[in-house]
Amino acid sequence: MEHTTAASTDLADLIERAARAIESRVIDWRRDFHEHPELGNREVRTADIVAQHLHRLGLDEVRTGVAHTGVIGVLHGARPGPVVALRADMDALPVAEEVDLPFASKVCTQWNGESVGVMHACGHDAHTAILMGVAEVLAGLRAAWCGTVKFIFQPAEELPPEGEDGGAQLMIAQGALDNPRPAAIFGLHITSRLPVGVIGYRPGPTMASADNLKITVHGRQTHGAMPWAGVDPIVTAAQVVLGLQTVVSRETDLTREPAVVTIGAIKGGVRENIIPDSVEMRGTIRTFDEEMRDEIHERVTYLAEAISRGARAGCTVCIRKNYPVTVNDAALTQRMVPTLQRVAGPGQLMLVPKVMGSEDFSFFQQVVPGLFFFVGVTPVGTDPAKAAPNHSPRFFVDEGGLLLGVRALANLTCDYLRG
Ligand SMILES: [Zn+2]
Ligand SMILES: [Zn+2]
Repeated sequence: MEHTTAASTDLADLIERAARAIESRVIDWRRDFHEHPELGNREVRTADIVAQHLHRLGLDEVRTGVAHTGVIGVLHGARPGPVVALRADMDALPVAEEVDLPFASKVCTQWNGESVGVMHACGHDAHTAILMGVAEVLAGLRAAWCGTVKFIFQPAEELPPEGEDGGAQLMIAQGALDNPRPAAIFGLHITSRLPVGVIGYRPGPTMASADNLKITVHGRQTHGAMPWAGVDPIVTAAQVVLGLQTVVSRETDLTREPAVVTIGAIKGGVRENIIPDSVEMRGTIRTFDEEMRDEIHERVTYLAEAISRGARAGCTVCIRKNYPVTVNDAALTQRMVPTLQRVAGPGQLMLVPKVMGSEDFSFFQQVVPGLFFFVGVTPVGTDPAKAAPNHSPRFFVDEGGLLLGVRALANLTCDYLRG
């Protein structure tokens, strides 16, 4: 027992030293990715740099081209043992950067038929650089730990281009969690909502499910002066929008979990005196419970159809399931909190509120127990509540957060593998 404690303390010290030694290179990698951002399913340069790095480290296996541009590395320790997976996403967003940095992105490209600027506005450049750093730390110390680590560098977390598949779901379909199957998976997200130096976590449902809603109300065109001669889809659509408000406010048990139904776009008609044939609405549905998610989908569909029927209109409801609820496994979270506490230091680990945003890390968590946590990157002296959030063209990363990310993932891995 004493021997084990001494050995683990030694390993933690070794990780500290190795992580600190690699910090400046992690920052360099991040700046390089930041200056050369690539959109979902187009992470060719990024994936190439990742794969070369993993080959150089002498990983036991490096697989490329998983789910288009994904890279998977497998690293065995001194002796066989449990398998842990670590995941980073690599894609950027169609956002034109407004941060004044020497390595700011000037990249423009085509996205779903439009010309767009490209920026790592969600911080996936940092995630990729952090995981490259973790791979180097753990490869250098492989004689000191037992088990296997699987490094998953994932494309298209922000959704692939229209008409393409991709992301975590496709990686899993292509075997990312097989041979070997991990017993646990860890992932992190840098966030503007926490100051640099702080780690945020939450057991259970942590980030929302996100589904796209498209409703088309089919009426019958007529002159605006003679509405009785047709079926008005505009008035019907208005009734549908109001009716949907009751799905959350009257029918959802909000003491269980919160939920949101939003209609964000409504289009119909071309001029003032023509009642159009149809109106199209688009929205988003967010939940924190898979059962509530199904119930809300059913009620939204039923209400939209029934309200339209009441107005003699037709209605087509299409709900596209995007990402499931990000659920941190309760037992795994409880087991790893002491590690996060030790890594973050006194007062620097925070239990954070639920986030209405979503993450496709949730797909991995549906297969193996997972823990997804947050690492603060808002500079000291800036109020995180006022800092430009992830996805903003002004999203700014205090690079001091990168080392904390490397230390957290490396320590979680080694502590987990020790059992
Ligand atoms: Zn994002
Ligand atoms: Zn993200």
